[in-house]
Amino acid sequence: MLKNKLLLPLPAFWILASCKPAETPNAAPTSESARPAHWGYEGKDGPPYWPTLSPVYAACGEGKSQSPIDIAKSEADEASAWKLNYNKTSLKIAHHAHVDDIIDNGHTIQVTVDAGSTLTTDKDTYELKQFHFHTPSEHTVDGTHMPLEIHFVHQSADGKLAVVGVLVREGPENPNLAKLIAHFPKAKGETNHVVDMELDLKLHLPDNTAAYNYSGSLTTPPCTENVDWMVLRDPITASPEQLAAFEAKLGKSNRPVQSLHGRSIRSRLMQSKATE
Ligand SMILES: [Zn+2]
Repeated sequence: MLKNKLLLPLPAFWILASCKPAETPNAAPTSESARPAHWGYEGKDGPPYWPTLSPVYAACGEGKSQSPIDIAKSEADEASAWKLNYNKTSLKIAHHAHVDDIIDNGHTIQVTVDAGSTLTTDKDTYELKQFHFHTPSEHTVDGTHMPLEIHFVHQSADGKLAVVGVLVREGPENPNLAKLIAHFPKAKGETNHVVDMELDLKLHLPDNTAAYNYSGSLTTPPCTENVDWMVLRDPITASPEQLAAFEAKLGKSNRPVQSLHGRSIRSRLMQSKATE
């Protein structure tokens, strides 16, 4: 009952206008209470309130395998045959205000990638679908945030999700981020498809792709669980100007770290094209 009452002050037209990407037709909700609701990072629609905004966001409050988490730094590398195979992609950049898709999304710049980049684990092959950004980082290492985190969202043929998180610290300029910043969409809801420009996705990966691996969730509503997370141990770098450009565009866009609830974190060595 409480959840329904909290939904009442939101006029239906406002929910539909705010939560759907412009290019997606508005599907009729199956019921008033099951409708995804507006959410944000601060104030009354911030992370502590996500579970109350819509019944479909229940996992954000009740889940026991939520992301992001704080990671205790570890050097105990475990050999694995996991492999990142990232290729070149043309540029398609979208600035979403809110998207209620199955993939991790929200106030973010998202780059949809061409088919052909994959993550292979001992059980599955996942195809890279998109990557997007959070400022500051969502995952922390020994309690410390980085200024930026990139999430590479992968999906297997049967719909399972795996996300590779790359932390970005201040340092030398990153040539890929320079291309993205130069083509940021001007407004939320806009998509920029830049012709004749390629990103080499390997430039988003550090030389050593050792990763902290754990079972987590989407970090945005509906906070769906059973997401296989790999947070790379080594950060990449971006210049102070580049980090400032992302902060200016995204603002605060990180969910606070969540309780481990007994989950273990494994430190895995992964192969990538960059290190072969
Ligand atoms: Zn994300």
